[in-house]
Amino acid sequence: MSNYPKNYIEFIDSLSTDIECRKYLLNIRWEKGYACVQCGHGEYWTNEEITYCICRKCRHRISLLAGTVMQDSKLAVRVWLVAMWLFSTQKDGISAKSLQDNLGLRSYRSAWSMLHKLRIAMARAGREPLSGMVEIGEVYIGGTLEGGKRGRGTEKKQLVAVAAQLERIPGGNPDKPSARDYRLSKIRAKHIKNASKAELHGFIKENISKGSTLIRDDWAGYSGIGDEGYRSEIYKASKATTDDEKLPHVHLVISLINRWILGTYQGSIDENNLQTYLEEFTFRFNRKASHSRGWLFYRLVQGAVSTKPHPYELLLIQD
Ligand SMILES: [Zn+2]
Repeated sequence: MSNYPKNYIEFIDSLSTDIECRKYLLNIRWEKGYACVQCGHGEYWTNEEITYCICRKCRHRISLLAGTVMQDSKLAVRVWLVAMWLFSTQKDGISAKSLQDNLGLRSYRSAWSMLHKLRIAMARAGREPLSGMVEIGEVYIGGTLEGGKRGRGTEKKQLVAVAAQLERIPGGNPDKPSARDYRLSKIRAKHIKNASKAELHGFIKENISKGSTLIRDDWAGYSGIGDEGYRSEIYKASKATTDDEKLPHVHLVISLINRWILGTYQGSIDENNLQTYLEEFTFRFNRKASHSRGWLFYRLVQGAVSTKPHPYELLLIQD
């Protein structure tokens, strides 16, 4: 096995014991180099069971799982890796019930909580901002476009901002390309409170490189974005007759998200944690062209052991 098992046979052959699994996590955790949190020294030992690392200089100890999404879990590391394999290699993901059955867990809640943490790991897995031509818009999940109520929102519906990076389809008119000359390449999605300037500008700056061209409508929430270093191509919302004509790629993404939530989660997701589901969808969508399922597993393990602080971690306290 190189960095990751290419298929299920390689997975069960190489990660069949807890110690093999801990060794695998250890290597990925320090794949960019170890640095002692106390003295900065670059070499360590581990104990025999590989449950912690010890700095060779100052003897500071750090638990293998400290700061990872597995921290404080009572489940064996091997159970976690099997969960990560199932979660990442199923094309559309896996429900908590199905995970519980596959792992033979007694409690549904443990399976649910594992999936929640794996979605956080997906959000952590490194990602580049979108760039080039990017279509953006905001749509209510489970509903249709804003109508006359834009920016206010109702209690039940969840507003989601979507950015879709487009790539040119070869051919077409090079001088006057239209929306049909582009296809979706990568996306970002964020659950936002409302369609205000603060929320929309924040979403754009977090997810799209400066210098990109935003394809958008003329909603006031986007005004002033030129001063932040973005170019805009503006649709006149009043001229389009259907949602699809306005922002076709954004609407396609939203319909795929809706269909995925219906298919994998039977339409029932915890709305307070909608953002983590959006991270899962984005992770899968942006890597759908990956050659090997094992690659997705590897990216997920990298996300799971990375120790970047993340605001979604706050949600775990409520679990
Ligand atoms: Zn040290």
